[in-house]
Amino acid sequence: MERTQIKNLKEKIGEKVKVSGFVQVRRDQGGIKFFVVRDVTGTVQVVFLKGAGEVFNKAGEVSLESVVSIEGLVKEEKQAPGGFEISAESLEILSKAEPELPIPVLEEKSGEPTDITKRLDWRWVDLRKEENLKIFKVWTELEKGFRSYYSQQGYIQIYTPSLMGTASETGSDVFKLQYFEGEAYLAQSPQFYKQMAQASGFEKVFCVGPVFRAEPSFTSRHMTEFTGWDFELSYIDSHLDVMSEEENLIVSGFTQLKNTVLPDLEIPSTPFPRITMEEAKEKLNKAGIKAGRKFDISGEEEIEICKIIKEETGHDFVFVTDWPAEARPFYHMRYEDNPSLTKSFDLLYKGLEITTGSQREHRYDVLISQAKEKGMSVESLSDYLNFFKFGCPPHGGAGIGPGRLVMKILNIPSVKEVTFLPRDVRRLKP
Ligand code: ATP
Repeated sequence: MERTQIKNLKEKIGEKVKVSGFVQVRRDQGGIKFFVVRDVTGTVQVVFLKGAGEVFNKAGEVSLESVVSIEGLVKEEKQAPGGFEISAESLEILSKAEPELPIPVLEEKSGEPTDITKRLDWRWVDLRKEENLKIFKVWTELEKGFRSYYSQQGYIQIYTPSLMGTASETGSDVFKLQYFEGEAYLAQSPQFYKQMAQASGFEKVFCVGPVFRAEPSFTSRHMTEFTGWDFELSYIDSHLDVMSEEENLIVSGFTQLKNTVLPDLEIPSTPFPRITMEEAKEKLNKAGIKAGRKFDISGEEEIEICKIIKEETGHDFVFVTDWPAEARPFYHMRYEDNPSLTKSFDLLYKGLEITTGSQREHRYDVLISQAKEKGMSVESLSDYLNFFKFGCPPHGGAGIGPGRLVMKILNIPSVKEVTFLPRDVRRLKP
């Protein structure tokens, strides 16, 4: 018999079906046994009656979370969740689970929730929870929304390498590894390559891929490997064009989410609030929050700025623009009339930075002088600088951390909990 997914059972009342999945709940009430069986589409109650013969005894042998196939009749049953259940006629055990589970799939309502470290140790069991499955449905639909916008706008997807011969940005947070007789580095961002695509005349590109940071961070927002969503586009007038593009992407992503897995999600209005770095610091001062480093916004300040903007505008997003050149990499373009400031931005969402972007400097000679000013070796940057030697349109782009975005959309406390298999200073498995 062909398998029916659980979400489709309601159309099969009165029919014989086969369902397959995990045994999430078992209850034995003497002459009647109950299972709740779970597949990726939902759960269903299955009953085993004593009178049904062999299948009744077999049900008694099944341990929790074993994988089974059950054939039986779909019957209306007012007391069952969803108003129907399956009356089992045959049962096949496809994979028996050991009787002691390392962590529960259904947390006890009254008990202490399982510690996150333990949950991550047994991640594949942890991911059986409905709410965890939902996280990855959100990733999928959000990305679908982003891709739909990219596709409407004629973006080209590029696939950038993770192995590099020189460190991609500063060299400080970079993983170095042995590479045959020499050394290689893991890419800290696809930045240089998506800029190269501008020099290749691709005009609008996006990429989705792993990013590596050798940061010894123990925060709820940092990992050593994460997925980056990046885009870059040519012929912009300034970073403001990049910001509008990101707004469109986010609206497209949120709309897709609302139409699928998160019907109650609010779609942000555009344009998002925009303040300069200087204004952000002023607002913090006014609110009596002692501003930290002049050239940076700390995690606490991100939270406070978002609170202030939420109060002033009701918006969950805010762009902070015009970062001092000291705080930004050498390739961020500076204002002609005020070269101490860059044409750059961070996007904050519900108290957390989710994106950095800017207009890039595309003029070879200016790039060299800005790199020198930062004390960088022009020689070690020559592969990158060469991209700008033979013509390159003005361009800009942004790097988005989708893990942080998903974390905040779902109000989950750590980026690691929304990552399929997080990697941090202490965790390299499973
Ligand atoms: P932060 O200041 O929070 O450390 P960053 O300025 O180093 O972030 P960028 O280099 O601008 O971050 O990277 C672009 C985006 O990638 C960030 O806005 C964020 O969403 C995400 N991101 C950066 N570092 C990490 C990390 N270690 N783990 C998870 N996501 C990250």
